[in-house]
Amino acid sequence: MQPDSILPGAVKTEEQHRRDICTVGHWMYERGYVASTDGNISVRLGPDRILTSPTCLSKGMMTSDDLVITDLEGRRVDGTRKPSSEMGMHVLIYRLRPDVNAVCHAHPPVATGFAAAGLALDKPILCELVLDLGGVPLARYGTPGTAELTAAVEPFIRDHNAILMANHGVVTYGADLLTAFQRMECTEHSAKVALVTELLGKQVVLSGGDVEKLVEARARYQSGAQVPAAESKASAPLPNDATDRVTLTRRELEALIDEAIEKDRSRH
Ligand SMILES: [Zn+2]
Repeated sequence: MQPDSILPGAVKTEEQHRRDICTVGHWMYERGYVASTDGNISVRLGPDRILTSPTCLSKGMMTSDDLVITDLEGRRVDGTRKPSSEMGMHVLIYRLRPDVNAVCHAHPPVATGFAAAGLALDKPILCELVLDLGGVPLARYGTPGTAELTAAVEPFIRDHNAILMANHGVVTYGADLLTAFQRMECTEHSAKVALVTELLGKQVVLSGGDVEKLVEARARYQSGAQVPAAESKASAPLPNDATDRVTLTRRELEALIDEAIEKDRSRH
């Protein structure tokens, strides 16, 4: 029986990481984020060891023994199955983002629809989207499993935690697997809301002032809950009300704060 919960944090035994990857694989399959054998999930086990889902197997049917360990070049070092065909993208993210310990790739239908329509999810229509992900950019199309795809996503990896891949799908990542998966959920949920605004023919974007207030609320929450701002500490205990938890990349947060200070100065 597949467990239906995983704990936050990246410091776990290899066996626990194996169970967590299978649980997230089931979640992605059950929620319709992947069809057939699509998608892949990985976790950083150590400086040169990545645990990943195998290729050519439904992510809803994986068991711990199906997983594969690769080095930071994506070469298999343990396991009997072939590693995910998108390992090139996973290892690129681990190389560029030392704070990242888990990567999820899937084809959730609404977000992937935006990617197939050539649309990024970068309008500030939802506070959760702005503060959790800071906007989701669209990377140009690259043939899956090739260097063309990794070259297309590379420019966005440092400053974002979720990327739409044109005519393909979504990749999300974070300090632990729970965070990476929740970013996939947040991306798909935001895409659904954005689609509804398109259907209604009306979209009201948050003002710069509204965004400032959200940043202030985040700072207040962090000082109260004593959760460190650094992405690498995202394994800290979750607050009681997880909807209060907001995360920006450090650079995005600094840019917003700079903007707020600049506005404050011009007011006085
Ligand atoms: Zn894919």
